[in-house]
Formats: sequence, structure tokens, C-alpha cells
Amino acid sequence: MKNIVVQKFGGTSVRNLECMKQVLNNVRRPLAEGSKVIVVLSAMAGETNRLLALAKEWSATPDAAELDSLVSTGEQISVALFAMMAKDQGLRARSLLGFQIPIVSNASYGKARIESIDGARITEMLKDNDVLVVAGFQGVNEHARITTLGRGGSDTSAVAVAAALDARMCEIYTDVPGVFTTDPNMCADAKKIDRISYDEMLEMASMGAKVLQIRSVEFAKKYNVTVHVRSTFSDEPGTIVTQEDANMEAVQVAGVAYDKDQAQITLVGVLDEPGVCASVFTPIAERKILVDMIVQNPSREGRTDITFTVPRADLDQTLKLMEGLMPEIGYKALLSDKSVSKVSVIGVGMRNHSGVAAQAFRALRDENINILMISTSEIKLSCLIEDKYTELAVRTLHQTFLGQYQVG
Ligand code: ASP
Ligand code: MG
Repeated sequence: MKNIVVQKFGGTSVRNLECMKQVLNNVRRPLAEGSKVIVVLSAMAGETNRLLALAKEWSATPDAAELDSLVSTGEQISVALFAMMAKDQGLRARSLLGFQIPIVSNASYGKARIESIDGARITEMLKDNDVLVVAGFQGVNEHARITTLGRGGSDTSAVAVAAALDARMCEIYTDVPGVFTTDPNMCADAKKIDRISYDEMLEMASMGAKVLQIRSVEFAKKYNVTVHVRSTFSDEPGTIVTQEDANMEAVQVAGVAYDKDQAQITLVGVLDEPGVCASVFTPIAERKILVDMIVQNPSREGRTDITFTVPRADLDQTLKLMEGLMPEIGYKALLSDKSVSKVSVIGVGMRNHSGVAAQAFRALRDENINILMISTSEIKLSCLIEDKYTELAVRTLHQTFLGQYQVG
């Protein structure tokens, strides 16, 4: 349906009455243009954390379904309050919880995936309402139990609703003006990006540029929903996340990202024979631990070293797994390092600009930063470095590719 706009507001945008009034101003804009508005809300800032803490107090191992039932209440508060306020202002509005639409998800409590949304139900309800206020972050599974979509999941709720309704735009309102070329807290030169492709955004998001939940970007790409990330508290346009275009390709690098949540493991002197890597990485995968970089050296005298990275929180578990494998794969030593981080330059333009890697390596050399591991993809170059140099590396890479005096 063409005349529907989906707007999602994050926790800081609904944290109190004053902020909710700003939300209402934003909702009035498309209404004035004759559109209907689906407003997707997060819980008030801090509420989800408060609820999670409560659960921990009540139970050492909270039942997964009950936990979702609990944490989903934060969004219920937001939508009910907002809907009553909108009605006071004379708007035809009502709230909707996930199960009332329904937003059907699979059964994985705490990280459920949306399977379907009844767009027809919503369209029907828009006959009597101009504003539907939908609780983000929640769904309902086939057992009629409430599920939640993972932290930051309201973004995904919004994009999924937009896809289901074929809405022309999904606006994600937050407390920052948009997506930046790098973390503005780290680098004062960071600039707001006007347009970014889905693939670049996925890379930026997976590196901890926390403006959008990764899954929401995957959804937007799959269903070709244009996403506008912008501030609740300003009329300035933000960042458009959309299909790649020629202008994006013309730029060498779109952004610089970093990830401090890294740990490095090395198996020294493993036998270089078929099946060794399979033995190492299968048990890790079975525990759903995400391995990011992997390097295997050429072998000498039938032995080689394998180095890889895992999220820091999974280091201890992974080391235990590796110790258990000792008899099977017979390595000579097991090394690990928690004080590493990953810096990356990202851009679809890297496909047709050569020399980006060499330029990045020179920039790091000039700051005397040692590179521990390297990985590349078509649109990304990542270097693992000592984590105490993260900020310096981010700044120098940003200056090199996105700085004021950048040439070419
Ligand atoms: N309230 C949930 C969270 O904090 C979902 C969201 O805000 O997107 O993760
Ligand atoms: Mg969020």
C-alpha cells in the first residue's frame, strides 16, 4: 500500500513524556501529507535491562519463555502510553502487541526470527485508524507464546512491518543524526553518511556501529525496503540505507569500523594433513561460536600453525574445546590473546579502486601499528591489531580515506 509510512522510535526517544511529544510531532508530518502511520516503539531507555535484571533476581536460570514474556512488557508500556497520548490529541490511534497482529516468529526465545506478518489485518485496521502503534521487539510463536527478537529487535520489527505492507519508507528514529563514517566518540572528524548500501551497512553494523540491528538490514535488503535513519529531535535528513548505486561505487571507502570484542587463538605445530581444520572448527561451530578470521600458515616438516579469532566472551569455552582436542590433533602449543581488536575499512567502491589495502597498511605503518592478522572481502579490509591502538588506528584510517585533505 503506497500511503503508509512506518516510523520506529528507539528507547531514548520514548523515555519520558517530553520525548514522546517529540515523537508525536514526527508522526504528524506524514499524517499531514495524507499518509497513514505505523509507529513501532521500543521500550523506554533502560527498561529492558531493568527487566532482565529482575529476572536474574528471581531465578538463577529463568525459563526462556517466561523471560520473553517478561522483557516484552517494556514495549507494551510504550505503545499503550503513546496511543493514549495520541488519542488525547485527537488522532485516531490504537496500540497493537505482536500477538494481536500477529507477528509470527519461530520458537527461539530471546532471539526469535520473524516468519510472517499479517499485512491484511493491519490494512483492515487502518480503515478505522490513522495511527497504529505497534510494540517492537516481540512476536508470537506457534505455541501462542510470546517471543522476543534479540537486543535491538525493534528495528527488525519495523522493517518487517514495512516489508509486509509494501510501505514506501521505513524511518528509524534515534538519538543520533544518522550513520557516521566512523564512531564519532573516537574520531572528531566522523561525518554523517547521506546514503549507504545495504551491504556496506551490514558490514558497519556487524562491526558494532550499533545504530541498526543487523537483522533489520538483512530484512531491508531482502525485501528492498528503503530505511531512513534519523534523529527524533531534529528535522535534518539522516542516512538513507538503500540499494547500491553508481555514486556509492565512486567513493573508495564509505566508513571505518572497529570491533574490540575479539580474541585470538593459535594452535602451534598441528599436523598438516586432511581433516585437521574440520576437527578444530566443527566443535566450535556446534556451540554456535562465531569464528571470524582464520589463517593457516604453509607447512614446514609436515606441521603448521592455525590462528583464528572468536568473540572475547567465547574465548574460555573455545580454549577448553581446543584442550579437549589435543589428543586427536596433536598440536605443540595453544596460545591465546584477549587484548586484540579489529579495524576495518568498508566500501563497495573497493571493488574498482585498487590499492586500498596497500594504502591502509601504509597508514598503520606510519603510526607504528603492527598488523597481527588480515582478512579481506570484496567490500572490506580488516586488520587485527593490539587493542590499545584501536583508537589511533581508526583515526589514521579515517584520515587516510575520509579525512578533509584526502586526495583521489
Ligand atoms: N527494547 C529492546 C532492547 O533494548 C528492543 C529494542 O529496543 O529494539 O533490546
Ligand atoms: Mg536500537
